[in-house]
Amino acid sequence: MHDSQAQHWLARSRAAVWHPCTQMKRHETLPIIPIARADGIWLEDFDGKRYIDGVSSWWVNLFGHNQPRIKQALKDQLDTLEHVILAGFTHQPVVELSERLAALTGLGHAFYGSDGASATEIALKMSFHYWRNHGQTRKTRFLSLEHSYHGETVGALAVTDVPLFSDTYAPLLQHNLRAPSPDARLAAPGETAADVARRAASALESLLQQHGHEIAAFIIEPLVQGAAGMVMYDPLYLAEARRLCDQYRVHLIADEIAVGFGRTGTLFACEQAAIRADFLCLSKGITGGYLPLSCVLTTDNIYAAFYDDEVSRGFLHSHSYTGNALACRAALTVLDIFEDEQVIAANLATAALFSRHLAVIAAHPAVRHFRQRGMIWAFDVDCQRADFGPAFFSLMLQQGCLVRPIGKTVYFMPPYIIEESQMRQLVDATLSALTQLLAGDRPSAQPETALP
Ligand SMILES: *Cc1c(COP(=O)(O)O)cnc(C)c1O
Repeated sequence: MHDSQAQHWLARSRAAVWHPCTQMKRHETLPIIPIARADGIWLEDFDGKRYIDGVSSWWVNLFGHNQPRIKQALKDQLDTLEHVILAGFTHQPVVELSERLAALTGLGHAFYGSDGASATEIALKMSFHYWRNHGQTRKTRFLSLEHSYHGETVGALAVTDVPLFSDTYAPLLQHNLRAPSPDARLAAPGETAADVARRAASALESLLQQHGHEIAAFIIEPLVQGAAGMVMYDPLYLAEARRLCDQYRVHLIADEIAVGFGRTGTLFACEQAAIRADFLCLSKGITGGYLPLSCVLTTDNIYAAFYDDEVSRGFLHSHSYTGNALACRAALTVLDIFEDEQVIAANLATAALFSRHLAVIAAHPAVRHFRQRGMIWAFDVDCQRADFGPAFFSLMLQQGCLVRPIGKTVYFMPPYIIEESQMRQLVDATLSALTQLLAGDRPSAQPETALP
């Protein structure tokens, strides 16, 4: 009966749901997995088979599924106010959340959206509009890093450098500029990650020298370029980017949609370079993975440029669910948990423990560029098989682990509540999958595409 339940939902999903980031025809052979329930780190299917959520359900979950405090807070909020229009009205959760985020980041004004890509759009539009309000109408372009990812709506896609996502839509996209990535893997023998960062910063300076007058903002994923395959780089680059943006009068937009809320070991990644961006984009972990919410925080100075008697100098942008009360309540509870349970300190110990377990993988002969920052681990696999990604994914799934490689990069981004036995299961499953895939390793005919 359970099995037929799974088949039943799978068939109905294939017929009616257009799944994201997917060539749907693939699902003729690759099954979709209907999830019946989830608890803690575990996802459970209709057969009662359990999977470790090794990607935090696409990087959104922080404290596990069925989290008691967030669940209770949402139930309480449901009894008072679920949602109200935020234009001309306000409510307790959105006020408290804005105040607390301001206190944590030093950015005094919060503008809300419902997903990450909208936060990117908001930051880009605000930056452009700020310069316009100051009479600088030539600043109409944006700068981002090579291999950047900032979302997939048409504006966000124009600052995203993942050809698989953007090439098709190129005729629709604004022509923006790209700076070289400070990817630490580019270090030559004897070079450090800081050397690579310095080199990339000097290329950034050339670009700003040449184009600063026409650039409104430089948008960047601080410390980790997630969708590029967990590309990590030295914090020195962020400090240099801040300095250069000031020098050439270009805004710095920190897209902490993936890396915010403790992912890189500090509450926000920018803290590790002791910098403050002009705009900070947050989403994903902001509600602990419970509800869609995004936020752009900005400075008093930028806010002031819009504050005027003239309506059109204001930021006339909106989303229907802006500042949703339930989502804001979930976000407030996430901040409570960070404080009450000293999550940042606890994660330090968790990360050290998982790194110890992963040492055997770091030392594996086919593993290259093993890297870690905070609660993100990644490595590249030297394997000829073009279908490495999907093959590895399937082998992990069979062993009760949800891990989705990006091309030949395997990464772990588990909820912060991961326990030692679960770390062991991930490591054992990975070693077994590597052994199977590397036995009789040979190039396969079909080149594969890398999806996050
Ligand atoms: C996921 C992500 C986005 C887009 O967020 P969505 O909610 O998927 O639109 C933007 N920037 C970064 C760095 C992300 O990881």
